[in-house]
Amino acid sequence: MSEISFLDSVNRNFDRAASFTSIPKGILEMIKACNAVYEIQFPVRIGTEVQVIKAFRAQHSHHRLPTKGGIRYSKMVNKDEVEALAALMTYKCAIVDVPFGGAKGGVAINPWQYTEEQLEKITRRYTTELIRKNFIGPGIDVPAPDYGTGPREMAWILDTYVTFKGGEIDAAGCVTGKPVNQNGIQGRTEATGRGVYYGLRELCETPDAMKKVGLTTGLQGKRTVIQGLGNVGQYTGIIMQKEGGIKIIAVAEYEGSIIKEDGIDIEELMAYRKSNNNSIIGFPGSTTLADRTSALELDCDILIPAALENQITIENADKIKAKIIGEAANGPITSEAEVVLAKKGIIVVPDMYLNAGGVTVSYFEWLKNLSHMRFGRMEKRFDSTMYARLVATVEDLSGKKIGETERALLTRGADEIDLVRSGLEETMVSSFQQIWKVYAARPEVETLRNAAFIVALEKISNDYANLGIFP
Ligand code: NAD
Repeated sequence: MSEISFLDSVNRNFDRAASFTSIPKGILEMIKACNAVYEIQFPVRIGTEVQVIKAFRAQHSHHRLPTKGGIRYSKMVNKDEVEALAALMTYKCAIVDVPFGGAKGGVAINPWQYTEEQLEKITRRYTTELIRKNFIGPGIDVPAPDYGTGPREMAWILDTYVTFKGGEIDAAGCVTGKPVNQNGIQGRTEATGRGVYYGLRELCETPDAMKKVGLTTGLQGKRTVIQGLGNVGQYTGIIMQKEGGIKIIAVAEYEGSIIKEDGIDIEELMAYRKSNNNSIIGFPGSTTLADRTSALELDCDILIPAALENQITIENADKIKAKIIGEAANGPITSEAEVVLAKKGIIVVPDMYLNAGGVTVSYFEWLKNLSHMRFGRMEKRFDSTMYARLVATVEDLSGKKIGETERALLTRGADEIDLVRSGLEETMVSSFQQIWKVYAARPEVETLRNAAFIVALEKISNDYANLGIFP
């Protein structure tokens, strides 16, 4: 196991990257510090007993408001972890130009040990505590899903908030990642995975990057390993398979890992897991590996850790054979391990950029909540009518008719899902270009993580400068 904590690892990465900037020391310290942490213990009746539950909410930076970040349900949650995750949120938001400060929440429970009714009770009580201390609100701090939580928990949070804050016109914006019929937005559930796809696609379409690792350009056929098939890992796999044409040769989950050289269809694997007592073991045509971590050490083109932090440490970094690592999870590589990976010539696409699709679409959801209207409602019919006129004009001028399928495609106005995907793709592509520009222009920077940090730190320090905090 690595000796250093997750927070130390994030801060070491910060220091390493900060040394490449000319930002004043005091400002760097201000950016690095966690502004506020609320640590709570509250009692909940579970069956015939009363359990005392420990929970946190960390607000890392208030340079932009509201603060934003997921809520994690895991027995391992602690103050160090939420602070590390909140810090990553600050840098992540800056990289993808989402105008929020970073935050993160955590409840130290194993969610799989509770019934739905008990989880609802815990979630509502946690939300009540946040309301009491003014740690939640559409202009204050806006949670979202993370490890162990999803749209269901977000709906409970909204309902609790609305119960306390009846009449607050923008109340729906107090949390994102809600179900679509509960003031959510189309495309949020898949957003992090889709963002991972766009980010890795951009890297693989960059000839200089592929030359560095000795691979052909493009995602097509890249032999890929995924760790974790939760929200992020599952959608990453499905979308990269369908739209990018990658070949997933191995998967690691909690119960173990499997390999199948001719490719694992993730949708089929998910259906199999459901029918097989929540286990991927025994998936037809696959071989079970010795243990769940050995999948990380397989010879492959792309490795995607999508479970938890501290998966690639100083203990196993030397054994990693992937050419590219896409950090879909937060903090899967320790700062010590990254040094080893860099020496081996492995390209690491950092978490603070690669998994920013979730917060990007959360931002769209928040904007939708504040505007009280779904995206596309005003312009869809207008656009469709204009496109139909254009097609009719071309037909008149050319004397030719186009087929019904093409007509339907050309005259379609954008739905909410089209606009969300378009906004997400634009965000991931343009942020990649910003990071790559720094990486390519400054060889001493060495890693994409350093380059991403530089982009983030410069934007945040500019914000402080514009606030008049330093000249
Ligand atoms: P999730 O709870 O939906 O899924 C996590 C999955 O990882 C589960 O299926 C779990 O069984 C598996 N897992 C746990 N330990 C494992 C291990 N040692 N080996 C293999 N599999 C293991 O969580 P999620 O929302 O998909 O989050 C995963 C990661 O992505 C976290 O680091 C989270 O912070 C990050 N993230 C999530 C989002 C989001 O929108 N949900 C956004 C950005 C980043």
